[in-house]
Amino acid sequence: MENLEYVNLRSQLNERRIRLNKAIEVSIQPQHLVSLLQKVDSALEKMDNGTYGICEICHEPIEKEWLASDPLANFCLAHLSENEQKLLEQDLNLAAKIQSALLPKNNFGSFGYEVSYHYQPAGPVSGDYCDIMINENDESILFIIGDITGKGIAASMLMTQLHAFVHSMIGLNLSAHVLIERVNRLFCESSLYSHFVTMVCGRAYKNGMVEICNAGHCLPVLIKKNEIINLDSNGMPVGLFQTGTYFSNQLKLEKDETILLYTDGLSEANFGSEEYGTDRINIVASKNFSKSPNDLINTFLSDISSFTKNSHLRDDLTMLAIRRS
Ligand SMILES: [Zn+2]
Repeated sequence: MENLEYVNLRSQLNERRIRLNKAIEVSIQPQHLVSLLQKVDSALEKMDNGTYGICEICHEPIEKEWLASDPLANFCLAHLSENEQKLLEQDLNLAAKIQSALLPKNNFGSFGYEVSYHYQPAGPVSGDYCDIMINENDESILFIIGDITGKGIAASMLMTQLHAFVHSMIGLNLSAHVLIERVNRLFCESSLYSHFVTMVCGRAYKNGMVEICNAGHCLPVLIKKNEIINLDSNGMPVGLFQTGTYFSNQLKLEKDETILLYTDGLSEANFGSEEYGTDRINIVASKNFSKSPNDLINTFLSDISSFTKNSHLRDDLTMLAIRRS
């Protein structure tokens, strides 16, 4: 998803400035903070004179993603020394390991449902969020898919934060929309203004009842034998307004019906100027209504590969399918 970094960066840096000044006042050894403050001031100055985001070595624009992960960057990533690049690579590999350890169990069955997902970062780490949790008490499965603005390290850090928020509330057994409401409040309080999350949270009960709350995310697809339904979105993305209220929609999932969730890495996968698009998603879903979640996802993956002629995906891609069996 494209981000709002450039729109809100100034207010973000100003906020950092205020916090740094406060920290410097109470710090015994403020040297490090003072040099950081100087960097923030220099970035703000560059914004004023129109040179922000321009590399001081080659005078070309700094890579957008690199700037998003470090708004104080003065040089392109390419100018790092071999050793610096190596260290950065090691950090990224470790971050990727931490992130993949947060993923839920895949390909399993519970309470009459089969669940599978596919999680594929565009780079070493992903800004997508995917979670599945089983609640033995009320025999339900909570499933979530989310997409944080931007890509790369900054987005992946927010993904881990989102994961922590959701897991801190698991024991409360909240319905989908209340969970999103609370996550929204926490996210607004703790994150940068420039970042928000679109997400879908659903809870599927043993009797086939499913509640779904959609906070501005790509529409989930309900796959029936003779019908494809794109389930309406009913809420603002998470992290925009602290007072956001959300609602859950209820539906009954019959035997052999599937709900497919995905991030825009699927719908916006492109070959040249042509996008994969929701029409194609609906067609593939409709042709493969009888498949298990795992087979359905694999069918999509091979269809994307043939659509993009195997070119590298530019955005993080996540799909999650839950089927009543
Ligand atoms: Zn450069």
